[in-house]
Amino acid sequence: MTTTPQGESALSSFPGLAERLAVVQDSVADAVRQAGRSPGEVTTIVVTKFHPVGLIRALAELGIHDIGENRHQEAQAKAQELAALDLRWHFIGQVQGKKARQVRAYADVIHAVDRESLVTALASTESVVDAFVQVNLTDDPARGGVSPDALLPLVERVLETPGLRLLGLMAVAPLDAAPRAAFAQVRQLGERVQQLAPDATKLSMGMSADYADAIAEGATHLRIGSAITGNRPSER
Ligand SMILES: *Cc1c(COP(=O)(O)O)cnc(C)c1O
Repeated sequence: MTTTPQGESALSSFPGLAERLAVVQDSVADAVRQAGRSPGEVTTIVVTKFHPVGLIRALAELGIHDIGENRHQEAQAKAQELAALDLRWHFIGQVQGKKARQVRAYADVIHAVDRESLVTALASTESVVDAFVQVNLTDDPARGGVSPDALLPLVERVLETPGLRLLGLMAVAPLDAAPRAAFAQVRQLGERVQQLAPDATKLSMGMSADYADAIAEGATHLRIGSAITGNRPSER
């Protein structure tokens, strides 16, 4: 990974970044207005997986605090290297049970809690981490997430586990269906979750291609990568 010496601007190494960020921020603001919502309800997480730490420094210079990563080793190394910056780390990938405690150590928010064994592995009596339960909107278990049928029992497990604060639901729109309908389903599932957990009002949904639909259906946490960062370096 490349580093930029302290005091030097990282921005010059990433031409077009500031412009792409501004375009997305404007477009998010438009979608929020059109949905009759208030801007403070929606957090844009910039997903920086596969990109160097310099890109995250540049984003920090542009006022971004919320960073999303989906691979443990990469996320851990970046969080360590950038510990001096005021960043909030969102772990948005699938979490291996045996890495759960390590992910907890640097992640401020874990977005893909999707099974009981992971809830158990994440338990702690020492600190509290914010968590989303991921719902799988497809029939493909490889995409991660709990099936809607098994959602409420999993939510109950999260609620009775020390060290986890449930924020709400996370989902990725299926590739083969209209995202708006998928996000509407997440919103409805979220309403059922709120009967058990009235504070779990947040929805982590919406990526580069579908964030406007997600905002229209109540997304509170957008996970936007390539529309802001540009194409990812080859996914090793
Ligand atoms: C990579 C990733 C994103 C961002 O995807 P883009 O299409 O680049 O915006 C969002 N959510 C998850 C879970 C991801 O893995």
